[in-house]
Amino acid sequence: MSYQVDEKGYYGRFGGAYIPEILHKCVEDLQKSYLTILESKSFGTEYRDLLRDYAGRPSPLYFAKRLSEKYGCRIYLKREDLNHTGAHKINNTIGQILVAQRMGKTRIIAETGAGQHGVATATVCALMNMPCVVYMGKTDIERQQPNVKKMQMLGAAVVPVLSGNMTLKDATNEAIRDWCCHPSDTFYIIGSTVGPHPYPDMVARLQSVISEEIKQQLTEKEGRDYPDYLMACVGGGSNAAGTIYHYLDDERTKIILAEAGGEGILSGKSAATIQLGKEGIIHGARTLVMQNEDGQIEEPYSISAGLDYPGIGPIHANIAEKKRAEVIAINDDEAIAAVFELTRLEGIIPALESAHILGALPKFGFKRDDVVVLTVSGRGDKDMDTYLKFMNQ
Ligand SMILES: *Cc1c(COP(=O)(O)O)cnc(C)c1O
Repeated sequence: MSYQVDEKGYYGRFGGAYIPEILHKCVEDLQKSYLTILESKSFGTEYRDLLRDYAGRPSPLYFAKRLSEKYGCRIYLKREDLNHTGAHKINNTIGQILVAQRMGKTRIIAETGAGQHGVATATVCALMNMPCVVYMGKTDIERQQPNVKKMQMLGAAVVPVLSGNMTLKDATNEAIRDWCCHPSDTFYIIGSTVGPHPYPDMVARLQSVISEEIKQQLTEKEGRDYPDYLMACVGGGSNAAGTIYHYLDDERTKIILAEAGGEGILSGKSAATIQLGKEGIIHGARTLVMQNEDGQIEEPYSISAGLDYPGIGPIHANIAEKKRAEVIAINDDEAIAAVFELTRLEGIIPALESAHILGALPKFGFKRDDVVVLTVSGRGDKDMDTYLKFMNQ
């Protein structure tokens, strides 16, 4: 059994491309050309060089000694927090802008929630001298000011979105609307393993450098190329997809994913899509969606603006359903506790999103010689305001 995408763009019953007629041609063009481009020599060389010299890869695989002692196993942290722009997002935006150039596109659009994907996109647009428009909900613009300023400084136009909750889902709707108006010259750089086929597969491939490096680094450190556990947080699922990509069909490795429980999955304030979602279509893909009885999308909630998405990448909906991955919801308070624990045990201040998978560590009884690789998807600089509120409690 393979957990990778099939020829039609599906992972089991999830995925596909459910798009308005006006986008058919440009999505079809991308479906037909993305693999040829990603596998071409010119793309490979330019992508690798930029990942190394611009983004700072390979990211270290760090043996976390004190964290390991605490949880009674061997924990390695995959340090995506050390990449340029502070998270794994840059792996994807570098790749997609190179694809856009090879398809002759001259204008870039993107959606953003917390602003991390917006900054990573604005960064590569500055690098490649391409005009960039980023759609961002007004609520997020207000709570993520430093990232808004960074995007503007990088030369991007940040367009406030006033519909719905004025957060990530609404920004994505607006980006798709823009794309429908400019399908011939515009490339939409999607920030996670979501959207119509081929985006989930393209983003997973671009992030798969994470597991490619883990294989090599683990061989050097442990003498074998697979861990007993792989752990990552999921918003839309891109850092998780990159972390597990080369291990999906290797059942020796257990996969643990953490989604945002918010104030608890039964509290009505949650973003735990895999636990709470039902099959539906969102932003061009069939997947699990948080929705009410009438099929209206329910507004997700998480303390972390990078995880409050009401859908989930189809790759993860499938591996959760087939029980290839164990998915647990980690609540706000558990994530916050994990932030302070990693900070004091290892001197690493993680992003709030990454803290959700750190918060899963106490929930498993590991054995002494279990090798655990946990991806720290980003750094905590952008979350300092939130952390300071909890510091004196
Ligand atoms: C955006 C983001 C996430 C969530 O996105 P995925 O596509 O699920 O990886 C997680 N961590 C950080 C640091 C982020 O910036």
